[in-house]
Amino acid sequence: FWGGVPMGPPDVILGITEAYKRDTDPKKVNLGVGAYRDDAGKPHILPSVRKAEENLFNRHMNHEYAPIAGDATFTNAVAKLALGEDSPALRNKTNCTVQSLSGTGALRLGLEFVTKHYGGVKELWLPNPTWGNHPQICNMISLPHKKYRYYDPKTHGFDLNGACEDITKMPEGSIILLHACAHNPTGVDPKPEEWKQLSQVIKDQKVLPFFDMAYQGFATGNVDNDAFAVRLFEKEGHHIMLAQSFAKNMGLYGERVGALTFLCPDQETAAKMMSQVKIMIRTIYSNPAINGARIVSEILNNPELNQMWLSDVKEMADRIISMRKELRDGIEGRGNPQKWNHITDQIGMFCYTGLKPNQVERLTKEFHIYLTKDGRISVAGISSKNVDYVAEAIHKVTS
Ligand code: PMP
Repeated sequence: FWGGVPMGPPDVILGITEAYKRDTDPKKVNLGVGAYRDDAGKPHILPSVRKAEENLFNRHMNHEYAPIAGDATFTNAVAKLALGEDSPALRNKTNCTVQSLSGTGALRLGLEFVTKHYGGVKELWLPNPTWGNHPQICNMISLPHKKYRYYDPKTHGFDLNGACEDITKMPEGSIILLHACAHNPTGVDPKPEEWKQLSQVIKDQKVLPFFDMAYQGFATGNVDNDAFAVRLFEKEGHHIMLAQSFAKNMGLYGERVGALTFLCPDQETAAKMMSQVKIMIRTIYSNPAINGARIVSEILNNPELNQMWLSDVKEMADRIISMRKELRDGIEGRGNPQKWNHITDQIGMFCYTGLKPNQVERLTKEFHIYLTKDGRISVAGISSKNVDYVAEAIHKVTS
C-alpha cells in the first residue's frame, strides 16, 4: 500500500531553519527565514494586533461558521486597503473579493479558478527569479508556467527592457504574475515610471495581470505607496487578479489570513464569479477561519487602531531600512573591493546580495550564517547586535 510514493525533496527555506536550529554555535544567524524579527531577534507582536485581540476578547464573540467568502466587513476593508478610497471597482461594486488562506491560499485558489474558468490562454508567466512556491503551485494544478526577464544580475536591478520584450512575445490572453511590491527574492521593484510602461505593454498584449501582494507596507513603510502598481493598473483599466496576505504586514503568519480579488467589468460578472469561487471554496475548506480575519477587520475598521497599525508597519519597515544601511556601511567600511549599493537600493524584507553559492557555503560553514543558496538574505534577521558580525563575514568571503 502506498509503495509507489517517492520521497519528495524537503522545502528549501524551511530546511535552512532546521539546519540553523541544529547549530549550537552562539554566534549563529538565521537570514533564511521570511518572517520579521525585532532587534532582539524575536518574533514581533504588533501593538495594534495585541489591542485588536483585547477588543475582540472583551466582545465575547461566538465561534459560528463564517460565510463561504468570509465576512463582508473583512473583505470590504481589505479590498479598500489594496485598491484605495478612489477605486472605481469599489465604487461600482464590480470587484469579487473572498477571504483566503493567507497569500498562498489566494494564489492557489486564483490559479485553480483560472484552470477551470478562464477563457484566455491558460499559461502563467512568472518573473525570473520568483518565490519558489509560485512554480510549485502551478505544477500541482498542472498549469503551465514560463519565465519572463525581471532581474538583471549585472546591475542588481530591474531589467525593464528584457521584461517588456518578453511580454510582447507572450501569447495574447495569457497571464502574468507581478509582485505588487517588495519583490521576493530580489528586493527589486519597478519604479513608478517603469510600472506605467509595464502596464501599457501588458495592455497592448492583452495579458491578464495577477498581482501577488504579500508585503503591502513593508517596502516603503507606507501602505498607499506600496499599492501604487495595483492602483495604477486598476486606473488603466486592467481586470486584475490580486492575492493579499496579512502574514507580514500584521505579523499574523500563523493565522493564515489573506484575500483574493478579481476586478470584473460589471456587477453581473462579479456576481457570477463570486458564485463560482464560492463553489470552489466550499469543496476545499468549506469556509474560512474566523480569528485572523477578525483581527484584520478590527484593525482596518477601527480608525484609532488603523492609525496605530500604520505606525507599527512603518516601524518594521524602518528597522529593515536602517539595517540595510548598517550592513552596507559595515561591508564597505572594511574596504571591500565590490560595490554594495544594491543592499540599500533594494527594498522590502529581502536582499539579493549577489553572493555566489560557494560564498554562501562559506558563510554557513565558517560563520554559522544561514541563507538560501541564491544569496538571498532576509534583512529582518539582521539586528544591531549581529550586523557587524554579518558584515565582517560577508567581507571575508567576498575579498
Ligand atoms: N507571495 C510571496 C512573494 C511571498 O513571499 C509570500 C510569503 N513568503 C507569499 C506570497 C505568501 O505567504 P503567506 O501564505 O504566508 O501569506
